[in-house]
Amino acid sequence: MARSRCPSCEYHEFEAVPVTTKTGQKFCLIQCIACGTVVGAVDDVKITSVIKKTEKKISKFIDSLNRKVVTVCTRKNDQDDNNTSKNRL
Ligand SMILES: [Zn+2]
Repeated sequence: MARSRCPSCEYHEFEAVPVTTKTGQKFCLIQCIACGTVVGAVDDVKITSVIKKTEKKISKFIDSLNRKVVTVCTRKNDQDDNNTSKNRL
């Protein structure tokens, strides 16, 4: 894949800048980090939906992680109980 570069200064790093117009329309400009030349624009709605999708994925991941942690903790407590009873003897 060819490396993206700025049409003005030929730099290769870009940033997304959120912009709101006077009419309240939200979108995101993709601009060169070095000189600020705008090379593209992204609809804010699209960005929001991408973020929401990612949030869902992450919350699912955390849920499954929590379940695993609970399982591990329960096992650990069982072992601790065994150790305690051994110490008593
Ligand atoms: Zn540039």
